Amino acid sequence: MSKIKIYLDHAATTPVDSEVLKAMQPYFSEKFGNASSLHSFGQEARQAVENSRKTAAKFLNAKPVEIIFTSGGTESDNLALKGIAFANKNRGNHIITSKIEHPAILKPCEWLEKHCFKVTYLDVDKTGLINTEQLEKAITKDTILVSIMFANNEIGTIEPIEEIGKICKKHKIYFHTDAVQAFGKIPIDIKKMNIDLLSASSHKLYGPKGIGLLYIKQDVKIEPITHGGGHESGLRSGTENTSGIVGFAKAIELADKNMKKEAEREIRLRDRIIKEILKIEGAKLNGHGTQRLPNNINVSIKGIEGEALLIRLNDKGMAVSTGSACSTKSLKPSHVLTAIGLTAEQSHGSLRITLGKDNTEQDIDYVLEQLKKIINSLRKISPW
Ligand SMILES: *Cc1c(COP(=O)(O)O)cnc(C)c1O
Repeated sequence: MSKIKIYLDHAATTPVDSEVLKAMQPYFSEKFGNASSLHSFGQEARQAVENSRKTAAKFLNAKPVEIIFTSGGTESDNLALKGIAFANKNRGNHIITSKIEHPAILKPCEWLEKHCFKVTYLDVDKTGLINTEQLEKAITKDTILVSIMFANNEIGTIEPIEEIGKICKKHKIYFHTDAVQAFGKIPIDIKKMNIDLLSASSHKLYGPKGIGLLYIKQDVKIEPITHGGGHESGLRSGTENTSGIVGFAKAIELADKNMKKEAEREIRLRDRIIKEILKIEGAKLNGHGTQRLPNNINVSIKGIEGEALLIRLNDKGMAVSTGSACSTKSLKPSHVLTAIGLTAEQSHGSLRITLGKDNTEQDIDYVLEQLKKIINSLRKISPW
């Protein structure tokens, strides 16, 4: 195994920032109180939770009461979909989403279909963008919710969120967006974009795992899916994960401070990698050329197995991904790459590199050098 360790899989998860860890630590030891307790131990925890809520709200241009802390992106997506569906079933039973959503959206949608709801899965074009005219045409008198991801986790395509928000507002339909990949990387303003519900997850922006949030616009009708002691305005019962919440808020604060500069830096690295990889014979970029997350590179290389590439890169100390982390265990081609028109072969030849704040120019030199070497040697042994 190589001594070099270059992590290039930030769409799967990110390391906890040292400042985040430092902010969290007291809440595991001396500040261990239950935020629902009335004594000073509890009040200290309550204060920390409410300050964190303010930080998250401000970041989204929302109000603190509109932020519900959850266990992560998956729970936020489930609460948004099931919660809206069940609270509004007297108005209609139709939901619109896209074919390239994360499983945390697609699986709850499938489950809702088993419980008398109808779901339309919008197509995307070859760059991964939904068509807003198609969206508007899909709306019926029974439509209660549109859920379209802010940016895709596999190919990095950024959807036309502001336009979708306008359409939903015009038709008085709730608009939810899974913003897990966009949150902390590109500007999000829930007012300007007419977003009614938004999911985010801490571990995708240098915060701890197991904590996330759902923004729910005031007066949106939603049912809880977890019942108990009535925490989080009754929408998410369970003792607050104080240390996680504090860490998440710290991560948001840091993202807010550094976002613009870091995005510019990552875009430079991203575009350099894309340009170099596209010089390789048979290489093709997946996703959009410009409407793309600053840190996402997704390519297919003809005649090369993504998995073989991943293993060879790992041997040289580099961590990348092929397809999404969730689908790597199955041989089924990624549903996202299939939706943008890739063949099964192109899909299996895909490589995803997602950059992070610790990746340097020198890291990229090494990655590109090794990548070219590995592809050459794989081509020597492959029949292509
Ligand atoms: C990671 C991810 C999720 C799931 O978030 P968890 O906090 O890991 O549950 C949902 N949606 C997208 C787009 C993601 O990238």
